[in-house]
Amino acid sequence: MKPLIAGNWKMNGLSNAIAEVEALIAKFDGSAPDDRDVLICPPTTLVAQFAAAFSDEAIQIGGQDCHVNVSGAHTGDVSAQMLADVGAAFVIVGHSERRADHAETNELVQAKATAALKAGLTPIICVGETEAERKAGHALDVVGEQLKGSLPETRDEFVIAYEPVWAIGTGLTPTNDDIAEVHAFISGFAPDGVRILYGGSVKPSNAVEILAIKNVDGALVGGASLKADDFYPIVMAAPSN
Ligand code: PEP
Repeated sequence: MKPLIAGNWKMNGLSNAIAEVEALIAKFDGSAPDDRDVLICPPTTLVAQFAAAFSDEAIQIGGQDCHVNVSGAHTGDVSAQMLADVGAAFVIVGHSERRADHAETNELVQAKATAALKAGLTPIICVGETEAERKAGHALDVVGEQLKGSLPETRDEFVIAYEPVWAIGTGLTPTNDDIAEVHAFISGFAPDGVRILYGGSVKPSNAVEILAIKNVDGALVGGASLKADDFYPIVMAAPSN
């Protein structure tokens, strides 16, 4: 499977941050290697600018969330169709920060993933346990429940990201065995061809190790995707298949 390395910029970046993407592309000598997919999900304000600027560059652009509806009275929201209209190819749904900050349920995440597919976007559906759930030995149960509730019912192309909540932005990561266990478990739920990304404190220093784990088909990277100097070695750490 072609690895996917995705950067989630969260609520970071003004229009001048395009320089970081240009710096990344310069490191690739103009175009990302075609044996891996490279995706940047900037804040919504930058999606159209980035998608227009990099349409020829083998770097794809995605959103960080979408509404379940195509349009309507939903102040402040953006629909999947709007993201697709300005050139996005992917959208993250069900990130743990949205599940926590906006009380997003599995049912809502599933509806967002379905809306994304209808708009022609590939949803990246995030799941992952909290620290307390892992300590109590419930990581697989929690991830299993999230998958059952959040995955779209259609067999269209989607991506799953396993992101233990306690590993996001903390510098902590599960052991390689724990990552392998959860990814093997997720691959039992996922239709063939679905890529399963690992996310949570992926850095240049641990990317080679993590991306070599069985059933890890790429990474969803937060903090370390903001700077080309950090993101480039992570992109290049993915083994080519
Ligand atoms: C994320 O927010 O999806 C993430 C994985 O963040 P970080 O890499 O900063 O832990």
